Amino acid sequence: MNFSVTILGSGAALPTKNRMPTAQYVNCNNRHFLIDCAEGTQLQLRKYKINFQKISHIFISHLHGDHYFGLVGLLSTMNLLGREKELFIHGPKELQDFIMPMLRFGGARLAFNLNFIALNTTDKIKIYEDPVLEVHSFPLKHKIPTCGFIIKEKKKALKINPKKIKEKNLKIEHFKALQNGKDIILENGEEISFKDVTLPPTDVLSYAYCSDTKKNLKVVEFIKEVTVLYHEATFLIKDQKRANSTFHSSTKDAALIASKANVKKLVVGHLSSRYKTNDAHTEELQNLFTNSQVAEDGLCIDLAKEQSRS
Ligand SMILES: [Zn+2]
Repeated sequence: MNFSVTILGSGAALPTKNRMPTAQYVNCNNRHFLIDCAEGTQLQLRKYKINFQKISHIFISHLHGDHYFGLVGLLSTMNLLGREKELFIHGPKELQDFIMPMLRFGGARLAFNLNFIALNTTDKIKIYEDPVLEVHSFPLKHKIPTCGFIIKEKKKALKINPKKIKEKNLKIEHFKALQNGKDIILENGEEISFKDVTLPPTDVLSYAYCSDTKKNLKVVEFIKEVTVLYHEATFLIKDQKRANSTFHSSTKDAALIASKANVKKLVVGHLSSRYKTNDAHTEELQNLFTNSQVAEDGLCIDLAKEQSRS
């Protein structure tokens, strides 16, 4: 099983030759998602060798251009390459009003179904679910209505310890209850505790995305103890005032949220183009939150590795 996140764009509003604006590709147990879709996202997907026709759901956090201006181009390319599989786009309700006329004026007739699903920008809401994972959106604090997202695996069924099958004379029909954490009584009256015959549970992995937002302590309850938190840190501490006035965060804000939420790892991104290198961000973070990293375009985060490292 695989749960990885590829950072396609780690910069803020202005694209530079080193950092593209925001987009992320998530592969969670062969579910393929895109979070935000800035200008140039389709090129970044190609550059990092990601098969974008597999993407089934796109989550757009808000309607500042550096988070969705790449959508029309990506949809158009998907269509030109013969896509037939339907696609779901979760975003602010006005998104559809922008995208559909763009496609129509260009004469594009999509050969696949495009479904827009409006996000609720005031509460935490479940927006996707299947047998192995769930996606929730939750409100952030930005200049316009904005959502963060959390992708979380469901609790996995326990594995039966093969050594115990013979020892306890377990049969297939006993497995399901034990794997779901229930004790059973055998036909001969023997009580079997699931703890005695199953292997230790595997970790449930989770990924939270918070961009763009000013420091918002309310978010802490939504992202408690996630494996990896991606939080924007557009600014350094010396530019805290600018962070506040533009409804963005500093490294200090991001680290505070990570620390209060007790996340395993913090990755910061959405770096302002005013900083020519990420050295100062890295230095500040080291002193604020030990297990942290500044995102680069192309960074691939393996959540299972992050979980086992801590
Ligand atoms: Zn924004």
